[in-house]
Amino acid sequence: MARAETPRRVGGGARAVIAGPCTVESEEQIGRLARAVARAGATALRGGVFKPRTSPYSFQGHGLHALRWLKEAGESVGLPVVTEVMAPAQVGPVAEVADVLQIGARNCQNYDLLKEAGAAGRPILLKRGFGTTVDEWLASAEYLLDAGGAEVMLCERGIRTFEHATRGTLDLGGLLAARQLTHLPLLADPSHSSGRRELVPGLSRAAWGAGVDGLIVEVHDAPDSAWCDGPQALLPEDLARLCDEFCLLPEDLERLCDEFGLLPGATPSIERVRTAIDAVDREIARLVARRLELCRRVAEAKRAAGVPLRDAAREQTVTARYLETPGMDEGSARRLAESLIAMGLTVEGWSAEGAA
Ligand code: PEP
Ligand code: MN
Repeated sequence: MARAETPRRVGGGARAVIAGPCTVESEEQIGRLARAVARAGATALRGGVFKPRTSPYSFQGHGLHALRWLKEAGESVGLPVVTEVMAPAQVGPVAEVADVLQIGARNCQNYDLLKEAGAAGRPILLKRGFGTTVDEWLASAEYLLDAGGAEVMLCERGIRTFEHATRGTLDLGGLLAARQLTHLPLLADPSHSSGRRELVPGLSRAAWGAGVDGLIVEVHDAPDSAWCDGPQALLPEDLARLCDEFCLLPEDLERLCDEFGLLPGATPSIERVRTAIDAVDREIARLVARRLELCRRVAEAKRAAGVPLRDAAREQTVTARYLETPGMDEGSARRLAESLIAMGLTVEGWSAEGAA
């Protein structure tokens, strides 16, 4: 099955978590980090092969041959890849391989680059420049659309202000204002806007609260020796927590399964299936935790109303719901319902001897 052909949706309720290192350091590094971010629940893999560095003496990226490593790493875990283009001449060769072209903050108003990228036939992630107003940013997106770009995502990555406690200032007001002016998906970059790993979860929550459709987050498993932007890189386990918190919608999971080659007739690798299973388990654990919290609340309500904690008719209704679930056999459905009911009774404080 050609997984690369499976469309990924971003926006309209589908959330993206694009994660990976600032830069592709080696074939081995990007393969390792691809597995780590996929396991954590990311929906796409990022990694720069052309790096816009302030100093010409800093590492500039491995260039095109590293794009192949990035793509193969993404394919090995079923994730599309996102990478930056810095010059019009890079657009053609990068678009042949990458799933999404990123236009970086420094090039938000590089109109020749925008025209070239817009015509490349690939989705584009357009970062807001650190000195670009919302109107100018949206006008830059128009260049992409006008050149034929059909799928454009916008990303707020921190603007430059007087504040030095953070690398940039994540402009939440600008995101909210942009939401009223465009139907395009809006993302936030909590990594470049903060420059500090410990602030990334909080900024992510803030961005999610402002209604973004996704995040682009830098991740490294050895941030102290990262070649670029180590201090802002999350560890993979931090990313897993972030993905859990902003859990993907059920339709994302369905798509994830498709992308992991789980359709009938496909023969996926064990690792690929396990990655999908891990994502499903995270979803289940989160839902069970929510259910138990509701059980606690219903127990309070029952006590206040003076009704017994245990209700056989209600338990039958709950069991019936699981029996109705398509794709689950009767034995599994009953065992699942019984376990959930038992867990619920425990948190409700019911005991066979004590309660009514
Ligand atoms: C990046 O995402 O790798 C990057 C360089 O970001 P920005 O263009 O926002 O600085
Ligand atoms: Mn970076």
